[in-house]
Amino acid sequence: MSGLFSAAFLRQIGWDVDVYERSRVELVGRGAGITGHPELLDALTASGAGTDRLGVEVPKRVALDRNGRITDERPLRQILTSWDRLQRLLRATIDPAHYHLGRSFERVEQDEHGVRVQFADGGVEQADILVGGDGIRSSVRGQMAPELQPIYAGYYIWRGAPNEADLEPETLRTIYPLFTFYLPKHQQVIGYPIAGFDDDLRPGKRRYNFIWYRVADAAQLREMNVDENGVQHEHSVPPPLIRKDLIAGMHKDARELLPDRLLDCLMKIKQPFITPIYDFTAPQIVFGRVAMVGDAAANARPHMGFGMAKAATDAQALAKHLDGHDDVDAALKAYNAERQPIGNTIVLHGR
Ligand SMILES: Cc1cc2nc3c(=O)[nH]c(=O)nc-3n(C[C@H](O)[C@H](O)[C@H](O)COP(=O)(O)OP(=O)(O)OC[C@H]3O[C@@H](n4cnc5c(N)ncnc54)[C@H](O)[C@@H]3O)c2cc1C
Repeated sequence: MSGLFSAAFLRQIGWDVDVYERSRVELVGRGAGITGHPELLDALTASGAGTDRLGVEVPKRVALDRNGRITDERPLRQILTSWDRLQRLLRATIDPAHYHLGRSFERVEQDEHGVRVQFADGGVEQADILVGGDGIRSSVRGQMAPELQPIYAGYYIWRGAPNEADLEPETLRTIYPLFTFYLPKHQQVIGYPIAGFDDDLRPGKRRYNFIWYRVADAAQLREMNVDENGVQHEHSVPPPLIRKDLIAGMHKDARELLPDRLLDCLMKIKQPFITPIYDFTAPQIVFGRVAMVGDAAANARPHMGFGMAKAATDAQALAKHLDGHDDVDAALKAYNAERQPIGNTIVLHGR
């Protein structure tokens, strides 16, 4: 997302931009829900991607008790969108000739005139700058600042997106239209409606974004990262390979812990999966002619739902400074001075 936003904003100020994506196939079906903060909506409009059929609007946030009664509520009109919808809107801003699938960054060399980037397929590209928008485990950052590693937060989430059509009528009537919180000790459950398959916003065709934060120390996480075939994974297990005993244990805990309506949502997830929560912040986000954006620059825990807005506004700021300076190096320094502290603030707020 930060790469697509960067391309859109840099092209607006007259730069020629190419996006190199490691994946060989179009990135679809990631399915995660994304909170539509005003900064994100503004950036979508400014980038030319727009906000057409962005998502599902909720009127308020509510908190439930164990019996499912609403104990607190706060009016907050917000559009809940999805990773897929944003990706589609942003992809449409890029000329396909400048979007390259199956190109995995390997190394960059630089001098005062620009960068020379080596890809895993053996290809080499030259440019004035390299923008590293390659996510929390960025290979670009790995070369520039190998000492910076994401830090495990001590908890993880079970998540998934059941179909609206599979939920019980009582669930649809009560929590489905709202942004819902349930806060048992040392845990957090949140849920909200999102678009269905292929960005479908029609009632009955949508999904529900379900997230359950739970505590696990590093040793427990390592044990959870052993898959159905006994293979140990370093960061997380691909959803289809998550062990059945873990899912069964999670379902058992849920029956004891969750209010009925949230339990209904959880039990209707066809393929629940685990995401461990990490964060990190970096003392600098520019390294000569290499500028980091989005999660590659700094990654906050997801409690504020601000990652996408940060990806967008990093990209916007980068273009603003490159537009405002004649000297590329001075522009990148100004970008670093503005955005590095903002990344810090967001990460600390998340903690
Ligand atoms: C549980 C959870 C919930 C979240 N909820 C929200 C939310 O509600 N709202 C919100 O705004 N954000 C949310 N986020 C965060 C959001 O998903 C990220 O902040 C956002 O995707 C960051 O975009 P990015 O472009 O920086 O990184 P990514 O989306 O990770 O993209 C990086 C891209 O780089 C590619 N890549 C990686 N390595 C290479 C390489 N070597 N060469 C070429 N390409 C490469 C990857 O394939 C990928 O396409 C959530 C995150 C999590 C984990």
